[in-house]
Amino acid sequence: MKQQTIVTLDLEGVLVPEIWIAFAEKTGIEQLKLTTRDIPDYDELMAGRLTILAENGLKLADIREVIGTLAPLEGAGAFLDELRAITQVVILSDTFEEFAGPLMRQLTWPTILCHQLEIDGEGRVASYRLRQPDQKREAVAAFQGLNYRVIAAGDSYNDTTMLGEADVGFLFRAPDSVKAEFPQFASAEEYGELMAMIRGELEA
Ligand SMILES: [Mg+2]
Repeated sequence: MKQQTIVTLDLEGVLVPEIWIAFAEKTGIEQLKLTTRDIPDYDELMAGRLTILAENGLKLADIREVIGTLAPLEGAGAFLDELRAITQVVILSDTFEEFAGPLMRQLTWPTILCHQLEIDGEGRVASYRLRQPDQKREAVAAFQGLNYRVIAAGDSYNDTTMLGEADVGFLFRAPDSVKAEFPQFASAEEYGELMAMIRGELEA
């Protein structure tokens, strides 16, 4: 009998747009387009984002309303539905539960493991909490500990430890820099292509 499989998927860039960038475009707040590429220190980046939210009087409810107007990437819903019909799927993301919610609703609530925001009594984003360091890789290792074979797919640097830990790792719509630096991971650009690669592994 074959070992049972779980597919772990990154969220932003794989199933939905980059949330902060899309949010910046929707609100017109240019400084929110900064990413870890501009400010490598994640705590500094997040502190800046929270200050900007406060300065613009954006409470969690406002933020969720804007995020709710964002849509998953074209074809993402159908891809996820097809995948969930043939294997188990868990989304591993470095976003926050409170931000992911409005997009998860549009994907009919798949399981997502990510981080959490701290909301104050007035509904403002006071702080954030990373559940654990390197949580994507830790999750893959934990699933393997439950005797699952793990197939992982992601698009960026924060996915590479997850892809490396997994039994099989795929890049999806990764920037050329990531593809060049991690040639050990096969890469796909379209959902049909990624589905065929995952199906190939499920049948292997
Ligand atoms: Mg991503």
